[in-house]
Amino acid sequence: MLDYDLHCHSTVSDGLLSPTELVARAAERGVKFLALTDHDDTSGLAEAAAAASQQGMQFINGVEISVTWRSYTLHIIGLRIDPAYKPLAEGLHTIRSGRGARAELMAESLARSGISGALTGAYQYADNQGIIGRTHFARFLVESGYSKDVRSVFKNYLVKGKPGYVAHQWASLPDAVSWICGSGGVAVLAHPGRYTVARKGMGQKTLRELLSEFVDLGGQGIEVVCGSHTPEQYAEFARYANEFNLLASCGSDFHGPGESYRDLGRLPDFPLDCRPVWLAWEADPFSSSDTLLTSSGVERVEAESINR
Ligand code: AMP
Ligand code: MN
Ligand code: MN
Ligand code: MN
Repeated sequence: MLDYDLHCHSTVSDGLLSPTELVARAAERGVKFLALTDHDDTSGLAEAAAAASQQGMQFINGVEISVTWRSYTLHIIGLRIDPAYKPLAEGLHTIRSGRGARAELMAESLARSGISGALTGAYQYADNQGIIGRTHFARFLVESGYSKDVRSVFKNYLVKGKPGYVAHQWASLPDAVSWICGSGGVAVLAHPGRYTVARKGMGQKTLRELLSEFVDLGGQGIEVVCGSHTPEQYAEFARYANEFNLLASCGSDFHGPGESYRDLGRLPDFPLDCRPVWLAWEADPFSSSDTLLTSSGVERVEAESINR
């Protein structure tokens, strides 16, 4: 079992727990290393870091950036970012500023399908109004009786071809990776299994093009063990990690009790041949906590871990 959880959400984005409550729950569940990765917003990190230090838990500054690559929406996780790094802070601000207008269009689309009051309804679930998104609409749709739970909302609403879906332009992949790496962080491709779903998703050729571009831009990690992957996908993405010389990351993608596929922590071990993402910061005696590791840095880590 892994005592790292490097992907979860608080009320700063679309989670149900405050950063302090999230850290307390993670500690109870045995997490020793936690990254808070709210969507497009880093304003929960200071509170989470303070709570983690009270609990004697190692805390990692994180973020999950929304990206548009070709026709796909991707999520890129930044770990060990510096939230004060200006290009990152400004980039996230720009992404957030698009969410309000998108929400209005989503509500209009739902209204055309006979669902009224969605905008006000969704905002009632958004603690942080600046990060209004599909999960808040999903909670409104559940409360109003249109779906039995948040997960089933995403079968009938808010996705391509269904009421409430609105195409949106997020950050570019080069921008997101450069904001993360420029701030001293490690860029990780989140839940790749979500992009390759049968029929609607990208095929293997496109996934390989994405991974190759991501690595060229400075991306260093890929989620292998995560809340939305099956055990077969752990093995599948471990193979991609090795093929593209990427470090493996793990995270529950926890949003709230009873709502998520997985609760915090207690994630199963990586397939044996994976190099965990924390090698990028643990095993390098030359790096200080805020040093950017280049891909050659990772090669150095690799050599060192063999020597140990
Ligand atoms: P947004 O950034 O507004 O597009 O919202 C994306 C969020 O919607 C994700 O981070 C998840 O929290 C949620 N979401 C998307 N697809 C699903 C799904 N199939 N099941 C549950 N939640 C989902
Ligand atoms: Mn989310
Ligand atoms: Mn995501
Ligand atoms: Mn997430």
